[in-house]
Amino acid sequence: MARISHRVAAIAESATMAITEKARQLKAAGLPVISFGAGEPDFPTPEHIVEAAVAASRDPRNHHYTPNAGLPELREAIATSTHSISGIDVTPGQVLVTNGAKQGVYLGLAALLDPGDEVLIPAPYWVTYPEAAALSGGTSVFVPTTEAGGFKVTIDDLARAATNRTKVLVFVSPSNPTGVVYTEEETAAIGRWAGERGIWILTDEIYQQLVYPSGPAPSIAAVPELGDRVVIVNGVAKSYAMTGWRVGWLIGPPDVFRAANNHQSHLSSNVNNIAQCAALAAITGPTDSITAMRAAFDRRRQKMVEMLTDMKGVSCLTPAGAFYTFPGVEDHLIRFADTMEFASYLLDAANVAVVPGEAFGASGHVRLSYALGDDDLVEGLTRIAEALERL
Ligand code: PMP
Repeated sequence: MARISHRVAAIAESATMAITEKARQLKAAGLPVISFGAGEPDFPTPEHIVEAAVAASRDPRNHHYTPNAGLPELREAIATSTHSISGIDVTPGQVLVTNGAKQGVYLGLAALLDPGDEVLIPAPYWVTYPEAAALSGGTSVFVPTTEAGGFKVTIDDLARAATNRTKVLVFVSPSNPTGVVYTEEETAAIGRWAGERGIWILTDEIYQQLVYPSGPAPSIAAVPELGDRVVIVNGVAKSYAMTGWRVGWLIGPPDVFRAANNHQSHLSSNVNNIAQCAALAAITGPTDSITAMRAAFDRRRQKMVEMLTDMKGVSCLTPAGAFYTFPGVEDHLIRFADTMEFASYLLDAANVAVVPGEAFGASGHVRLSYALGDDDLVEGLTRIAEALERL
């Protein structure tokens, strides 16, 4: 008998680990490493949200277990804000507050997949989707996209990849790692295609409000042909600079909600009440700090794209959302075996960390986050440009 179960032993080590560890060692050794690896806003959580958490921690009601699905006032606020942002009718009874959007993705897929069911995942993709699908016995079917095609899947791509085992399509717009945002028409076409075939959509809307110059991104959950076969995952992490608070949510039809709620009740119970109160303050409070953060991301995005497209052997689309660019560096791969090696060269030659595309199922590209200070951004990109000139 194996010591570690086959199901859990099969979870892949993150392809970003090696480069992140190397960057950490160089930093510890005193080298001026600039990292473009961040998957989170570099801003602190806005003050009014922190204050709400301080007050909540002093309230004894928050010192004990609360309903598994979340604090009623938070579920209500999530339903209201989903209605006003996405234009869809949601009742608080459909909202499950989860430990981050990540747990929402996991619970959503676990509620829908039986062993052998196939999940369509447009590539490049966020690393957690295939692992979460595999833990439920699902089989990931990647649907490749290209830079020339704007990193967007079309319904022809989806039709080619679908089989009679296809149960779910994972849709994410804006996307991590490409920053791509689907237009309203493209979103509607994909929703209609899935709806007509009875394919469920799990829509990851964690970057929904980080769209430039203004958003939000259209929600595929609003496409009428989908009926009730749609599960929304969202959270406060990215839009409110709250990655460390671990509050996300899943919204689904009553049967999916019930299944995921039961699952969570045996997995982790209610999300930390203090963090839920902070999330409530975020969703219902003033939005000026969020607007300022978005403006900073937009400014950095433009600077980054301008500098990347000027570099030798680098191509770069202008992302419309999230806080990542996903430039192509294929021309440099005559010198390197893959983008892992390319990223390793940048770390050695320029003290700059980028995430190799292999982590997202797309060699030939690297991911750069622009969630870092303006000065570091320019300095880091200047160093990359110089290191590429030396090749
Ligand atoms: N979805 C995507 C596409 C993400 O990039 C991330 C964070 N890296 C998450 C979900 C997870 O968000 P949370 O921190 O709320 O778990």
